[in-house]
Amino acid sequence: MPETLKTELAPTFTFSQSSLQDYFDCQRRFQLRYIENLAWPAVESEPVMENERRQQEGQLFHRMVQQHLVGLPVEKLSRLASSPDLSRWWENYLGYNLNIDGYAQSPELILSAPVDSHRLLAKYDLVAILPGQKALIYDWKTSQKRPKDEWMAARMQTRVYRAMLIQAGAYLNNGAPIQPEQIEMVYWYADFPSEPARFPYTASQYQRDWSALTGFIRAISSQRDFPLTAEEKKCAYCPYRSYCNRGEKAGSLDESESDPETSTTEFNLNFEQIAEIEF
Ligand code: SF4
Repeated sequence: MPETLKTELAPTFTFSQSSLQDYFDCQRRFQLRYIENLAWPAVESEPVMENERRQQEGQLFHRMVQQHLVGLPVEKLSRLASSPDLSRWWENYLGYNLNIDGYAQSPELILSAPVDSHRLLAKYDLVAILPGQKALIYDWKTSQKRPKDEWMAARMQTRVYRAMLIQAGAYLNNGAPIQPEQIEMVYWYADFPSEPARFPYTASQYQRDWSALTGFIRAISSQRDFPLTAEEKKCAYCPYRSYCNRGEKAGSLDESESDPETSTTEFNLNFEQIAEIEF
């Protein structure tokens, strides 16, 4: 670990739901990952091979769905479902009705909006819009467990994705701002296809979320001390635990609540792809 940690966030840093979630899980993790830019020195969960396999399969599944949504033939894509997990997820996906006929579909959409000198960014698996009527946000999850809806409702992803669609999504809605009541976010679980989690939105939730998100970003930008979390059980799934003297052994994948596929994909975003949508 460096003797003295950097404490100042780059003024041009782009926030995402992942970095904000890291901040709320542990402020020191935010500092190590986004201010120090430290590589991940340890695995997040055991068994390592199983964790990596699920991450890779999760990423491939996302890719297959994206390719399907842009029109590639099912027969061609089905050949990629070469493992039992992928094959099951793919069958479940093909058997599920997303109910988006007639919607304008934007798979793998990236939106961002400025917050002071920073930007806040959201990378969506799918946004489907019936202009002036309905805006559906779909997010595919390949986690082994289906989290409780209350847990997902409180996640930064749920708060950032819905608010960002209002902030930066008007161009998808014939130029008119999308109204909060038109938005619904759906987490579709590939292993629990008939149990999606649905989160509609209201104007008061939007006001609460956007005000909170801008407040968090302003507070983090001027913060100089990033303490270690007091909840040490979070350290078992954190790749920085050796830096923090919080144990050597990784937690079990079975017991982890985090999503293997989302822990790395957002972190590795290609920022050149970002649609710079000003409001
Ligand atoms: S090991 Fe624990 S204290 Fe250290 S960054 Fe990770 S979660 Fe925070």
